[in-house]
Amino acid sequence: MVAAHLTCPTNVLESAVQQLDDAAAMIDLDPAIHAKLRRPRRALIVSVPTHMDDGRFEVFLGYRVQHNMDRGPCKGGIRYHPCVTLDEVTALAMWMTWKCAVVNIPYGGGKGGVICDPACMSMDELERLTRRFTAELIEVIGPEEDIPAPDVNTSDRIMGWLMDTYSMQVGHSVPAVVTGKPIAIGGSLGRAQATGRGIVFVAREALRTRGMSVAGATAAVQGFGKVGGAFAELFAEMGAKVIAVSDVSGGVINQAGLDVAALTRHVIDTGRVAGFAGGDAITNDELLALECDVLVPAALENVFTADNAASVRAKMIVEGANGPTTPEAHSIFTERDVFVVPDILANAGGVTVSYFEWCQGLQHLFWTEDEVNRRLESVMVNAYNEVYACACERRIDMRSAAMAVAVGRVAEAIRLRGIYP
Ligand code: NAD
Repeated sequence: MVAAHLTCPTNVLESAVQQLDDAAAMIDLDPAIHAKLRRPRRALIVSVPTHMDDGRFEVFLGYRVQHNMDRGPCKGGIRYHPCVTLDEVTALAMWMTWKCAVVNIPYGGGKGGVICDPACMSMDELERLTRRFTAELIEVIGPEEDIPAPDVNTSDRIMGWLMDTYSMQVGHSVPAVVTGKPIAIGGSLGRAQATGRGIVFVAREALRTRGMSVAGATAAVQGFGKVGGAFAELFAEMGAKVIAVSDVSGGVINQAGLDVAALTRHVIDTGRVAGFAGGDAITNDELLALECDVLVPAALENVFTADNAASVRAKMIVEGANGPTTPEAHSIFTERDVFVVPDILANAGGVTVSYFEWCQGLQHLFWTEDEVNRRLESVMVNAYNEVYACACERRIDMRSAAMAVAVGRVAEAIRLRGIYP
């Protein structure tokens, strides 16, 4: 069942392949390597029969796509959403390949998803769905093969069930099979806020390179979940003014700056942004067209399209969500000189701390939160600077530069490894 308020994204795979094609032309990519990268290495479709609380069982459809493994095992989240499609999961897996390459961590890209509406399911149903989905994936996931993580509507709790199910099947605890787990069973300190924190670091660098600073900068954030919520909280703590926030229920605006901590409490209490007393109501469309320094889409794909890109008035967009900008909107932003820090760079903080969690899990040696955050900052700032230098050198936009850096690194790995046999 698809909830009435949701617009399912379409053509995300076309967008992802188009971005690869553009990068390939830009860096003069070997046509054979280009052809290899246009398709995923492997895509698995599974039925997930699940006992529901009323005694029936329902059969859900699940996917795991592994795009590329030339730089290391696949890494990528699992999404529970009514709009999940194989094309969407494939696009997200491809973006994970570029994301891991752009921040230079030793992974390829993977992604998974189950078509379901968690808002209409109990925790017990979600646990049974997760355990059966994990059992169906058992042949293709593992700490050396493919390491899932949370994504839209999947939590640390769900990752804990995944880890337990995998561990039960192989007969011993395997914390490194999944990241984004609860701390008590091998999760990393700092993981929960890592994506939002990473966006803060790149937003700070982007403001710096554009001659601005975080102090007093205004920000609008679409999506107030794991990513948007953490970004808003940390950016406000750093001295920025978060003037508007929205989620699927609608949004709130306060030009003097929202009290993000109070808004977070309101969302914990009511489950929605709408109705927060510390601001006026605003729609998602109005939020996207607000005048502000930093606009952060942190919900779903295809938020900026040919229809609304011309109305964006933000000085810069820092993409928290994956794939929020269609190729048409990208062209409009480039023409209008809207500075965009692309998803594969901006939201790579999550996978970076997932990488730290995986390293800690393999070694059974755990780091302090401070160490995690310091290493995260170093990875994000280096990656931003490499992409920015490439953009300046080639006189191209940041998305094209990030793709040039990422695809170049993956292509080099393919060249050096060669094709088996
Ligand atoms: P989440 O489920 O925690 O939060 C999603 C938020 O988006 C919620 O506030 C929801 O209400 C809002 N939303 C959903 N549909 C909307 C709509 N139509 N209009 C406005 N708001 C809407 O998910 P998340 O983990 O925060 O992920 C958000 C985005 O960030 C996704 O694109 C995801 O792929 C990407 N991402 C997540 C991580 C991570 O570590 N969680 C890492 C990198 C990228």
